[in-house]
Amino acid sequence: LYVEHPLGDGQSVPLDRDQAHYLFGVMRMTVGGQVLLFNGRDGEWLADVAEAGKRGGVLVCVEQTKQLQMPPDLWLLFAPIKKTRTDFIVEKATEMGAARILPVHTAYTNSERIRQDRLQAHAVEAAEQCGGTYVPEVAALQKLDRVLDQWPDGRQLMFCDEAEVGAAKQLAEQTLGQPWAILIGPEGGFSDAERKRLWAQPFAHVVSLGPRILRADTAAVAAMTVWQQALGD
Ligand code: SAM
Repeated sequence: LYVEHPLGDGQSVPLDRDQAHYLFGVMRMTVGGQVLLFNGRDGEWLADVAEAGKRGGVLVCVEQTKQLQMPPDLWLLFAPIKKTRTDFIVEKATEMGAARILPVHTAYTNSERIRQDRLQAHAVEAAEQCGGTYVPEVAALQKLDRVLDQWPDGRQLMFCDEAEVGAAKQLAEQTLGQPWAILIGPEGGFSDAERKRLWAQPFAHVVSLGPRILRADTAAVAAMTVWQQALGD
């Protein structure tokens, strides 16, 4: 179960109404039962149910069961698409170990807005279901140009473009161990101006994911796999 509260030896963790409903109503847990908790910072803890009510409850941490496992320093930048497919991208990126998820607004992005809180909740659920102890931050929607203007020193970018023909360029192995990011475009792909700007960046490595045009959500999963195979763990 994901909680916001700090976790530690003997730490009491208060539950809100929704959490109490889930544990005591849906899962039928009672006082004396045990539950695994994580908060994205303190690893995973086994906790006893000390108080159980309809509107709340209290858990007490008894033992750490996992240390915090940080994923590799990989960001996923993607242009939001339809709601359910955007949810899918956040869910799969979390399962595959993205450290940060950044929705970016590009020239052909069809979605002007995202529900950041809803996407963050999807990341929490995905981390919960895959037994992760870390939850990637879902950033607010920003313009791609602005993100590139403020690009951090030393971070490499795998720029996925279906217009790139031929075999995927080898990802630069000398950058092994450096922070990376992946960029996936919207349904309409990238504009010529965006391509030119990206080609000119020394940190950007353009990559083909094969001869067929993948849906943006498929491309996100394929790109994370390619990156993990070449550089990540
Ligand atoms: N119209 C489809 C859709 O609805 O999702 C296809 C969208 S495709 C243009 C979206 C993004 O996926 C592209 O901007 C690119 O980042 C990535 N992509 C798709 N196929 C690719 C390929 N073969 N190689 C590299 N990137 C690809």
